Amino acid sequence: MNEQCELPLPYPDELLYSVVARYHLRAGNSSAKCTLREVYGTENVIPTTDLPSHLDSLNAIQPVSVDQWIDNHTFYPYYASFMPRDRALLLRQLMKGSDGSGIHALVGIIASTVARNSDLHFCTACYEEDVQRYGEPYWHRVHQLPGVKVCPTHGYPLQRLTSPLSDRHGLTALPISRDMFESIPIIEELNERAEGQLLGIASDIQILIQMQDTQVFYNSRRLLMHRLSDMGLVTPGARVRQRKLQEQFVTFYGRELLNMLECAPQQNDHSWLASATRSMRNVVHPLRLMLLLRYLYGSFSEFLKQSDQELAPFGKGPWPCLNKAADHYREAIIKECKVTRCSDTGQPVGTFHCACGFSYSRRGPDQSEEDRFRRGRIKSFGSVWESKLKEYLQAGLSYRSTALNLGVDTNTVIKYADGNTTRHTCSLKVTGKKNKVKKPSKLNGCKPVRVDWELRDLELSWQVEETCKELMNDQFRPVRVRVATIGKRIGKLSILEKHKDRLPITMNILSNYLESVSQFQIRRVRWAAEQMNGEWPLKKWKLVKKAGLRPGYSPEVEDEISRCISYNTLISPLTSTEVTQWLH
Ligand SMILES: [Zn+2]
Ligand SMILES: [Zn+2]
Repeated sequence: MNEQCELPLPYPDELLYSVVARYHLRAGNSSAKCTLREVYGTENVIPTTDLPSHLDSLNAIQPVSVDQWIDNHTFYPYYASFMPRDRALLLRQLMKGSDGSGIHALVGIIASTVARNSDLHFCTACYEEDVQRYGEPYWHRVHQLPGVKVCPTHGYPLQRLTSPLSDRHGLTALPISRDMFESIPIIEELNERAEGQLLGIASDIQILIQMQDTQVFYNSRRLLMHRLSDMGLVTPGARVRQRKLQEQFVTFYGRELLNMLECAPQQNDHSWLASATRSMRNVVHPLRLMLLLRYLYGSFSEFLKQSDQELAPFGKGPWPCLNKAADHYREAIIKECKVTRCSDTGQPVGTFHCACGFSYSRRGPDQSEEDRFRRGRIKSFGSVWESKLKEYLQAGLSYRSTALNLGVDTNTVIKYADGNTTRHTCSLKVTGKKNKVKKPSKLNGCKPVRVDWELRDLELSWQVEETCKELMNDQFRPVRVRVATIGKRIGKLSILEKHKDRLPITMNILSNYLESVSQFQIRRVRWAAEQMNGEWPLKKWKLVKKAGLRPGYSPEVEDEISRCISYNTLISPLTSTEVTQWLH
């Protein structure tokens, strides 16, 4: 092993190739081979500009890690952003290793659809600035990327050297003084509109390669479909209107520009545009995908903004624990948010599980910062909450104030105080076992559909609660809240009847509302009294008739009737609405 060499520190967005070329210049080595031996410990390295290999053998003392070289000084983020995660990882491995041929087998097919630049490019304004700031110029990574024809910072067309001509296998540093070389622009003069487009594309690509977490776009097809559909480019049968898309895409950029970028789609079903909108697979060149995103969203940053909202409907973590019984109440300590989709509305549902055993979920997307403290539905209380409950009750607190302290309604406290907690967990365990034993039934040889019971339970609990509230508030005619009534109203009766065990949350909610016969009769008495608000004095037989009570009702109902009548006799006739209206 050679002595370690001192590779210069890289400048911002400088190609690794450029750093090695500057080293070559400083070392005063006569041949590139000599330099490569010093830098990599072997001369069997081709100093590629885009996706170099042998990075693990970088034989240099400097504070830059191999991953930093890859992320900030090679084309890696340009290609990896649109790859599936495992392929991107493989690419990174290959770049660290010594088999360069694997790299081009991996990305070669995509990369070859748009010609790789055979020579290095620079911007005249960047050149001046770099000489001023650093004392020397260097090759910027962004200027070399396919599709970048103008400098994203200055907007000037990029230049290429005409003399001295660069040697493909050598190491060419950008000469330090303008009179040491000649150069010409890499593009002909264009109309203003095309120039504007090129600047936009270059800026998009610059944002892309500077992103920290790449590889996030591989699964963005759903997002694209939304957008295409908003633009009227999807049929009711969920097919992309390819011809219309292609026409509009070509009009947007102009054929001349697309030809120059080697991105004009062919006039058939196998065009890159068709395959890019069919699935976000690893077969389309990043430049082409960037053009598509720009066409669909106006710019790459607009796409990012929208995908952020779409992909993170509950914002960034950590999220607060909303367990009022915990010391860490409202503190942001929950690191993970599980996002599922409501199967009816497609809206995101976030589930937050704290280490204290408390978990909750709410429907999204969040609209504001305050929404982070919206608890939605409690899915489990956990041991901290339960022992606090016991503590309060043993200390003699009323159900009401216990409920207030624990941030739940009184019914919940009563249920859990009854020892419902243990029964509840027991029944869950039993069903868990049952699920394992039970084999999925085969329906006409079809593959059984896996049901996400947890999610279904949650969705159903919302529907059930809404319907219960509707029933309770119905002023027209009281209807008793029963499983059958609710089930029929939401069209889910058989699930409610057959799968009680799998719907713990729904059943819990439902049991808060279900009415016994006398509870329902009491509600009817109150309703009748309200309906007869103008009558004074209120006659018992009339009230009983209006409430539809048959003889034989319970003492509790009798009590309620007496209460209503005595209330009626207590208030002065003048305060009743009818009389007040008459006085005016
Ligand atoms: Zn520039
Ligand atoms: Zn907690």
